[in-house]
Amino acid sequence: MKNTDYRFSEDFARNMDEQDPMKGFRERFYFPKVDGKEAIYFCGNSLGLQPKTTKEYIQKELDNWANLAVDGHFHGEDAWYHVRKKSKPALAEIVGAHEHEVVAMNNLSSNLHFLMVSFYQPTKDRFKIITEAGAFPSDMYMLETQVKFHDLDPDQTIIELKPREGEYTLRTEDILKTISENQSQLALVMMGGLQYYTGQVFDMEAITAAGHVAGAKVGFDLAHAAGNVPLQLHDWGVDFATWCSYKYMNSGPGNISGIFVHERHAESPDLPRFAGWWGHDEGERFKMEKGFKPMFGADGWQLANSNVIALAAHQASLDIFQEAGMDRLRQKSELLTGYLEFLLQEINGERGVIEIITPKNTNERGCQLSLLVKKGGKAVFDELYQNAIVGDWRHPNVIRIAPTPLYNSFMDVYQFAKILEQSLHKFA
Ligand SMILES: *Cc1c(COP(=O)(O)O)cnc(C)c1O
Repeated sequence: MKNTDYRFSEDFARNMDEQDPMKGFRERFYFPKVDGKEAIYFCGNSLGLQPKTTKEYIQKELDNWANLAVDGHFHGEDAWYHVRKKSKPALAEIVGAHEHEVVAMNNLSSNLHFLMVSFYQPTKDRFKIITEAGAFPSDMYMLETQVKFHDLDPDQTIIELKPREGEYTLRTEDILKTISENQSQLALVMMGGLQYYTGQVFDMEAITAAGHVAGAKVGFDLAHAAGNVPLQLHDWGVDFATWCSYKYMNSGPGNISGIFVHERHAESPDLPRFAGWWGHDEGERFKMEKGFKPMFGADGWQLANSNVIALAAHQASLDIFQEAGMDRLRQKSELLTGYLEFLLQEINGERGVIEIITPKNTNERGCQLSLLVKKGGKAVFDELYQNAIVGDWRHPNVIRIAPTPLYNSFMDVYQFAKILEQSLHKFA
C-alpha cells in the first residue's frame, strides 16, 4: 500500500481493518473507559493495555505459591529457580539478541545505574558522556548522579546533542560528528534509542560504530523502542541496553525491566559491577561461599531472586508478541502510523495548525507521532479526552499519539482524526 492510496473515509478504514491479518489481537486486550465510554487508546507509549490472559498467568503462580510454598523454587517445569529462562526467547527476538545476552530483572532506572557501574569507568583523560538534550528525566538524573559519584562535574562531563536551530530532531551526521570531535575524551555514548518526546528513532548502528571508533562504550535506553521498532542489538554491536516492559510491552504498571549485554562482555569477571547472589554462578549459588563468580552473559548482572509474580504478567504479554512476531507487527505499524500521518495532513490543509515533529522517514520512527499544536493546544487535547480519546499531553504544546499494531485499528485512527478536526475548528 502506498500513502497515496489512503482515503479519509470511514469505509476505507473499515475495509483496512477487515483485511488486517493482525486484527484478531485487539480482542485479547482490555480497553479502559472514559466516563463510561470505551476509550480509543493511543497511550501504549506510556502504559500498554492489559492482556486478558494476564490474570491467569498470575493466578497460576499464586496457586503454585499456595500449594507448594518453598518447594515452588525447585518443583516441576515451572520451578521459580529457573523462571528467568522463560522470557529469554521472546526478549531475544524483540531486541535482536542471543538468549544469553538478555535477562529480565529490576526496573529500568535501577538497571541503567547497574549497567553504568560496569560500562562507565571514567579516567582522568577519558570521562565524557554524550547523550541527547531533553532526555527522559530519569536518564538525566541517572547521568548527573553517576558523574557526581565519580567526583566529576556534570557540566564538564555530559555533552548534550541538540537539534539544529529551527529543527526538532537530531541529524545522524551531527551525532556522529560530535562523537568524533570528542574522540580523545569520550568514555560513553548513552542515549534513548527512540526519543520519547519527538518519537525519533536514532541510527543505533551508526552511533555504535562511531562510538567504538572513538574508543567509547555505547548503551541505549530502549523504553520507547522495545516492542515498537525492529532492533538488532547484537549485530549492531551495542555494548549494553535496558528497557521497561510496561509501555509497548504491555506487562503492567511499573513491571519488570530487561537488560542486554553484548556477548563480547559475557565472560568478563573483571568488569566492575555491583553484584548480588542471583548473578553468581548458578551451580554454586547455594554453597553460600565468599568470592563472586558471575554467571555467563547478561545473567551475571542479576542481583536478586527473580520476581515471579512480575515475570508471570510479563510472560502473558511476551507470549502474545511471539505469536504476533515483530516483523508482522512492524508491517502493520508502518501502515497504521502512515494512515495517521495522512489524515493529519488532510485535516491540517492550508492552515497548518499542526506540525508533526516526528520524522517522516519510517526508518526514523516507531508508531508514535508527536504533534506540535500551534494554537489552542491544551483545549484541543482536553476536547479529545472528553471524546474518550486517550493520548498524552507534553508541556508546552505537544500531543503524542501512539497507535500500536497489537490493539489499535484503522478505525481508531479514523475516529481520532474526525474528532481532532472538530476540536481544531472549535479551538484553533
Ligand atoms: C519510561 C521511561 C523511563 C522510566 O524508567 P522506570 O525506571 O521504569 O521508571 C526511563 N527512561 C525512559 C527513556 C523512559 O521512556
